Amino acid sequence: MIGKITSAVSKIGPGAGGNIPGHMVLKVGGDEALRQLASELKLGSVLVTGTNGKTTTTTLLIKLLSNDLQIRKSFENNTVNSITTSLLKQDGDLGVFEYGIRNTEFGIPDKVQRLVDPVGVVYTTISQEHTQVNGVKNPFLAYYHAKILLTQDMKRGVIVTNSDDPRTALIGINKQKDVKINYYGIAIDGIEDIFDEMPIRCPKCNEHELSYSKRFLNHRGLYECECGFKRPEPNVKLTNAEFGVDSWKLTIEGNVFNYHAKKEIPLNLELTVPPFGFHNIYNTLASITAYASYTPKTDRIEDTIYKIFNNLDMSFIPPGRFEVVNCNGKFIGLGQGDNGDALKINGLFMNQFIDGPLEFIYTTPDEYEDEIFADHFEVIRNLNPEHVIVVPGRKSVEKAEEYCNRIRKEFDNVDFYPLDYEKMDKRIDKLTQLATDSEYDYIIMSGCGEEQAMWEKIKRKIIDK
Ligand SMILES: [Zn+2]
Repeated sequence: MIGKITSAVSKIGPGAGGNIPGHMVLKVGGDEALRQLASELKLGSVLVTGTNGKTTTTTLLIKLLSNDLQIRKSFENNTVNSITTSLLKQDGDLGVFEYGIRNTEFGIPDKVQRLVDPVGVVYTTISQEHTQVNGVKNPFLAYYHAKILLTQDMKRGVIVTNSDDPRTALIGINKQKDVKINYYGIAIDGIEDIFDEMPIRCPKCNEHELSYSKRFLNHRGLYECECGFKRPEPNVKLTNAEFGVDSWKLTIEGNVFNYHAKKEIPLNLELTVPPFGFHNIYNTLASITAYASYTPKTDRIEDTIYKIFNNLDMSFIPPGRFEVVNCNGKFIGLGQGDNGDALKINGLFMNQFIDGPLEFIYTTPDEYEDEIFADHFEVIRNLNPEHVIVVPGRKSVEKAEEYCNRIRKEFDNVDFYPLDYEKMDKRIDKLTQLATDSEYDYIIMSGCGEEQAMWEKIKRKIIDK
C-alpha cells in the first residue's frame, strides 16, 4: 500500500519520482514485499545481467516481447529499487529487468534471486570494470562470483548465456544439472580481432591459461583448457554474415528450449540490420535467444524477430553509448568506454569507418584505476592515432596528466587539456569543440565519463551541428 500511495504522489511531483516508490516499499515492507510483488507475475521474471551490452540486450528483448504481450520492465537504472518500482507501477504477466551487480552490491544477488525467483536469467558478457575503490585491488574474482550468485540457487527456468565468453559459459555448464541452458555464440570465419591477444586465465581451474583457436572479440572466441573446460556448443549461432556498407545480413540458426512450451523451437533466420558493430551481433543473439526462451507465444517467434530486426535503426543504442556520427563529412565515433572491454569494442566499431589518419580524444580513468588505463592504452596503441588529445574523464586532473605522460613515452603528437570535473558544462563544450573543429576526418572520442551527464550531451551537440 505504501508503494501505491508513493506511486500516486510521485506521478504528481515532477522529476523527483523515479524509484522512490520501490525504495519506500522495500524500506517499509522489507524483502517480503519484493517477493510478494514478483509473485504476482503469472509468467515470471527475466533478469538481464553482464558487464557490457545488458542495456542494449534488455532494450531489444523488451521490443520483441512487447510485440506478444504486455510486460513489466526496467532498464538503464538497474537496481533492486527500480525493479520494485516497475513491479508496482506497471501491469503485465511477465517482467523483464536489467540488473547490474557492482562491488557495492556484493551479497545481494543471491537474495535478489531468492526474492524475485526469476524464470530466466540472461548473461551478456563478463569482464573487468571499475571495481577498484580507494586503492583496493580490483576484485575481479569477487565481481565474477557475484554474477554467479544470481543463478546459483535457481531451480527452475532457463538460463541464456554466451558460450564464446569463458566466464558466462562456465556459469551455464555449472547449472546444467538444475535448469535448462540456451547458449548463443558465433560460428563463422572471417572475423578478426584487431587487438593483441591478452592471456585469459581459465575460470574453471584458475590455474592454466586458455588456449584459443579463434578470437572474436577480446576474451570471446573458441577456447579450451588443459583441465578439460572448453567452449560449449551454442544452441543459437550466427552461421553466416555479409558485412555491407549500409546494411549487414546475418544468418542465425539453432534450437531454443522454450520455458512455457517445454520444448525446442527451431530458428532459421536471415536478418537485415544496420552496420551496428560486431558487439551488437552478440546483443542480437542474446535478445533473440532470450525472446525464444521466454515468450509464451511460440507460434510466431520468427515473424516477430523479423518485424523487430528488419525495421531496426540505430536509435536502439542506449543514451551515451558509443556511436559513429557523420558530421559534415567527418566520421566522429564517440561515447562511453569505461572499461577495457568497452573501449576495445568501441575501437573495433570505429575501425570499420577509418580510412585515413586518426585523431584519438581520450578521456582518462581516475586515481587507482591503472589497470583500466593499461587496457585503454592497448586500444590507443592498436588504433595507432596520428594525434592524441588527453582529457581527464573523472575527477583527478593530476592522475590524468600522469596517464598522459605515459602515452607521451610512446606517441610524439600528444596534447593535454586539464579540464575540471566540477565544471561539467565547460568540459562538455570543450570536448564538443575539439571534435567538431578537428582537422582530422576520422576521430574517436571515448574513455571514461558519465554516460548521460557527459557522453549523451556531447553526442546531441555534435549531431545538431
Ligand atoms: Zn582450466
